[in-house]
Amino acid sequence: MDKYDLVVIGGGPAGYAAAMRALDFGKSVCLIEKKRIGGAGLYNGALSSKTLWEHSQKVRSTNESLSAFGHAPYRPTWEEIKTNLNEAIFERKFQYSCHVKLLQHETDNCEFEHERGVAKFISDHEVEVESDGQKKIIYGEHIVIATGSSPRKLPNIDVDEKNIFTSDGIENIEELPESMVIVGAGVIGCEYATIFSNFGRTKVHIIDRQDRILPFEDADISKLVSRNFEENGIVVHSKASLERLEKKDGGVEYELSYPDGKTEVIKVDLALLSIGRTPNIDGLEIENAGVKMSKRGIHIGDDDTRTNVPHIYAVGDVSGHIGLVNMGEIEARHAVEKMFGNNKNRIVYDNICTIMFLQPEVAAVGLNEQQCVEKGIPIKVVKIDYSVIARAIAMRKTQGFFKIIVTNDDDMKILGMRAVGEHASSAIQAVGLLIKLNMSIEVLSELVHPHPSIVEGIQECVRMLLNKAVFKSSVFRDKLACYSLVDGVKTPLERL
Ligand SMILES: Cc1cc2nc3c(=O)[nH]c(=O)nc-3n(C[C@H](O)[C@H](O)[C@H](O)COP(=O)(O)OP(=O)(O)OC[C@H]3O[C@@H](n4cnc5c(N)ncnc54)[C@H](O)[C@@H]3O)c2cc1C
Repeated sequence: MDKYDLVVIGGGPAGYAAAMRALDFGKSVCLIEKKRIGGAGLYNGALSSKTLWEHSQKVRSTNESLSAFGHAPYRPTWEEIKTNLNEAIFERKFQYSCHVKLLQHETDNCEFEHERGVAKFISDHEVEVESDGQKKIIYGEHIVIATGSSPRKLPNIDVDEKNIFTSDGIENIEELPESMVIVGAGVIGCEYATIFSNFGRTKVHIIDRQDRILPFEDADISKLVSRNFEENGIVVHSKASLERLEKKDGGVEYELSYPDGKTEVIKVDLALLSIGRTPNIDGLEIENAGVKMSKRGIHIGDDDTRTNVPHIYAVGDVSGHIGLVNMGEIEARHAVEKMFGNNKNRIVYDNICTIMFLQPEVAAVGLNEQQCVEKGIPIKVVKIDYSVIARAIAMRKTQGFFKIIVTNDDDMKILGMRAVGEHASSAIQAVGLLIKLNMSIEVLSELVHPHPSIVEGIQECVRMLLNKAVFKSSVFRDKLACYSLVDGVKTPLERL
């Protein structure tokens, strides 16, 4: 039986990161992957959907310019879109395969094996790998479970990945549909709505049970995104319950009901189910290892990547905790550092930087206004509109805002930030770092920022809080705002 210091099950971003970090400690590692290294970080997931989003944003931007000069819009075909998508996927896939191959065969002082096959537990140290009918048992001193997640389905909806899709199949369509419905207005559903509407050939409908999209974010964010959805022709069925969705006459028919008793039946070309993900544990036989499940995913015994079995860890989507590439990687590296590096720190989940790839992009770190209100934290909020940021003017992309939330005291410690607009994702990082280092906003107000840059907007926000901004909020009342929010009561802050 082959024996390793670490056996990793699953070669997505989390599993791959765990394997690579263990090599840094000089450990022998076996990485078992049943399909393709990269997982949903690459295929039918983060990288592929972002390639589509980037492409769709370029098409949208091009069409804005064409329309400004009175030209007809450019409408790419699905074949063109798919070629671009395949090129991006191939580029990343090629990097992984070269990396794996060279690590396995040509790197000295590195004991790394990649096993292709489906893994299941035989005992708490033994894993069986099955590939093409061949079985072998591998022993791991430590084991990391990183089997990821799959799209959630509904029992009464027949997902065939031909007319009714999940994110696993949507990239295999043969042409852009004329119309589609997306079930679920969460982050992934809204991203696909943005992508398909941006390409300009598809009438997109999206079904939302709540009264507004992205209900977990502040109302100003969902308002701006909704307005753009409308401008892009997206129909949002708010407060709607899906009564029925089925294939009909080569397309898809669905029926909605509303709280006022009204119902409607709509026919579209295809449907995309985007209602969350479930952890991949089927067939893994974790019970043979004594690993327990929680309601969300694999039970994390010490709440810090380790399961109830001390030498078995669960990282990434399979824990059902936070489904993001960056968090999967951080959890994986952390788990390995606990195993081999005696890392006693815990993972801090408070200030994760995230991006929602919408129109425009929305980036977040830390708490938002509504979370502070829910937690009863008194805050000061400062907001600046993109229209007063030089770089946004130069880009001719002045739609968006920065919002910084600080404690309502003299320290004004940053609790969170939201950025909506061009380059929003790059802007969030600086504030994420300030929060992590527990630094004061003064530092940011004095730092020499590149000019013209979008991040100058953050500096202006901070200066506004300190009452030393260049543009005065008493003058540009519609573009600059500064207020306190205590017990849900909003009070404007006196600023020049
Ligand atoms: C449409 C979409 C868009 C997304 N966009 C983003 C984004 O913009 N940013 C972001 O951070 N995250 C994004 N995500 C989430 C991100 O893709 C996941 O959080 C991430 O891929 C999880 O990594 P993982 O390694 O835990 O699992 P996965 O990526 O799911 O990988 C798990 C791997 O384990 C393998 N496996 C499963 N069972 C077994 C077994 N029994 N034996 C052997 N191998 C097995 C699978 O084949 C798979 O390759 C997106 C996801 C989707 C679906």
